[in-house]
Amino acid sequence: MVLPRKYTLRCRKCGAEYEPSPGRLVCDRDHAPALLFASYTQKHLEVKNNLPGLFRFIDWLPVENTLDVEGKPITYESKKLAHHLGLKNLFISFNGYWPERNARLLTCSFKELEAPVVLARRDGVPGRIVVASAGNTGRAFCYICSRTQFPLCLVLPEQNLSALWLPTTGDTNSICLVAASGSCDYYDAIHLAKHIGDLPGCFPEGGASNVARRDGMGVTVLDAAVELGRIPDHYFQAVGSGTGGIAAWEANLRLLEDGRFGGRRMQLHLAQNQPFTPMTDAWKARSPSISPLSETDAKTSISQVSAKVLSNRQPAYALSGGLYDALIDSNGEMYAVSNQESDQARALFQTLEGIDISPAAGVATASLLQAVDGGLVGPQDYILLNITSGGYQRLQQDFQLQSLKPDIAFANEDILPDRVATGMKILLQSTHSSVAKKP
Ligand SMILES: *Cc1c(COP(=O)(O)O)cnc(C)c1O
Ligand SMILES: [Zn+2]
Repeated sequence: MVLPRKYTLRCRKCGAEYEPSPGRLVCDRDHAPALLFASYTQKHLEVKNNLPGLFRFIDWLPVENTLDVEGKPITYESKKLAHHLGLKNLFISFNGYWPERNARLLTCSFKELEAPVVLARRDGVPGRIVVASAGNTGRAFCYICSRTQFPLCLVLPEQNLSALWLPTTGDTNSICLVAASGSCDYYDAIHLAKHIGDLPGCFPEGGASNVARRDGMGVTVLDAAVELGRIPDHYFQAVGSGTGGIAAWEANLRLLEDGRFGGRRMQLHLAQNQPFTPMTDAWKARSPSISPLSETDAKTSISQVSAKVLSNRQPAYALSGGLYDALIDSNGEMYAVSNQESDQARALFQTLEGIDISPAAGVATASLLQAVDGGLVGPQDYILLNITSGGYQRLQQDFQLQSLKPDIAFANEDILPDRVATGMKILLQSTHSSVAKKP
């Protein structure tokens, strides 16, 4: 007997179907860019509470094996913030560290939902995964790799290095850390990571195109739907690459197919931090693509936002199955939030809910305030607010954070294929193993 495949990869544009190889990130057919999504054989979600952390949702994760990680999103009903806003059914998806509520994402953001799924999917596949990050993703990958010894090459802007810490002294021997130095931003780091991903033995992680990333993040919505017994009416999140928003929409589609969580499409309410708001601007104009911004203009506005993790210059917006499609399908709304609004929302959240939240989560909370003020949500509606990152201050009461140092740095003018190849060759040969070890 041949068991049916757990999942296949399907193209959102043409429907072409592919075997679920972790290396496949795009459709082969000749059409405009499109995302592949995971189509799972099992249409009914069975939560497996005996499995570690987020792997209890393994039915709808593109992995065969689990990793030994404890983090998962938690969903709880807000009382004080809900009361303050006059809302009857406000639920918080908290992604971070808050042991009093059993929230144990030790790198304090929902990027720690992506990393274990991406890595578990590569279990046993030789090669080093290459990830570009503005901070939170990198921290999450370093932490999970320090626990599992998966070979990792992490590329990030030098100016974001302070975001790179570990909650514990882990074994970092399998991690190769590359900095894009000087004035390089996240976009330059992505560029550098592309060159490294082309080297023998290295594999680009894929970002938004990687179904493991999206389905890992989608767990926030699954956890909430199981907790509430239904699909929420509204979903609030701050977006940078758009991956989390797409993931929430895709989780919604699976829950609809399951059928036991009701038949609604939750409205996506997604927010960006002023003055860097490319997706908000495009959506407000109902434009299916983002207007190109000059390099200087982008860098200038990015330097002014407090939620740096939202400053992605190439978000997954215009491609088929991307954020524009998700917003159309869910009758979505997008918001622009100033630093000051974000700061006020963070203070309000800490006072009323009792935990510190990050600038990005402040942006999401502020967008909920805007929606309430504008009458875009009703007092009885079921609302899910994704606190994508929180508990950083709380974590420091319990843990001594360890910082990480880059193994090599490339200046902007050295981000060229041959220079990167030369620089990386010795480093990759000398220091690190290239086959994933099982934990
Ligand atoms: C990455 C990130 C976001 C934005 O998520 P995208 O999937 O890139 O849109 C929001 N909040 C936090 C804390 C993040 O780290
Ligand atoms: Zn296709």
